[in-house]
Amino acid sequence: MKRALLIVGAVLVVLFGVFFATVGSAFVGLKEAADGPVAPGVQLVRDGYVNVFFIDVEGGVAMIDCGNDPEAKAVLAALKARSLDASAVKAIFLTHGHPDHTAGCSRFTAPVYAFEGDKGIAEGTVPANGPLPKMMGVQKGKTTKVTNLLVEGATVTVGNEAITAWNIPGHTQGSAAYLARGVLFFGDSAAGQSDGKLRPAPWVFSDDLDQCKASLTSLAAKVPAGVTRLAFAHSGFLEGADALSSFGK
Ligand SMILES: [Zn+2]
Repeated sequence: MKRALLIVGAVLVVLFGVFFATVGSAFVGLKEAADGPVAPGVQLVRDGYVNVFFIDVEGGVAMIDCGNDPEAKAVLAALKARSLDASAVKAIFLTHGHPDHTAGCSRFTAPVYAFEGDKGIAEGTVPANGPLPKMMGVQKGKTTKVTNLLVEGATVTVGNEAITAWNIPGHTQGSAAYLARGVLFFGDSAAGQSDGKLRPAPWVFSDDLDQCKASLTSLAAKVPAGVTRLAFAHSGFLEGADALSSFGK
């Protein structure tokens, strides 16, 4: 009996070890993210382990994702530091529907943009498909409402700023990349490594890693010249666009 318990215990220890090593490895070797400017008119706001971005627009900001905090404390504090409040957020662009990017959305009344493929995940009506997100099931009690569906390659104008969206399925089916003020935003579909290279989404959180890689390769051919920075949801940004154009080569 005692021996059986020891074996069960050992198996559990190994399983937990593999689990934490798998999840942890998704974040090892990434460039560290810090609050502050990413490019002229683009600010990174760190909400725990996830990044939210402000894009300056006429009369306020457009926001890339809403962060992990249902009260959006870090985001509201960053607005306050600029003598702004929640009403200064003119539009929200979701990179995808996972809860750590959407939890704060209900604190704002701005229109919420996303691709159709992630509307249900963002609104908590369907579960996400990645190995780990699937285990967590439908994110019940979510109050995010996607008000505007994005069109592939189309540009949305917020105030005086143009924000272009591309669907890059793989991390989730509705994952988006956005280009605004020369910065290309990837959400979780990629991360910046400390060696300057682009890393695709971690498979354990993703629908389909091969699809994600193919999306990144085809995105490189779609974005216009003039990208100055690559920005990610869980790492620091990368300078220039070389890490994208050389991805997979
Ligand atoms: Zn995600």
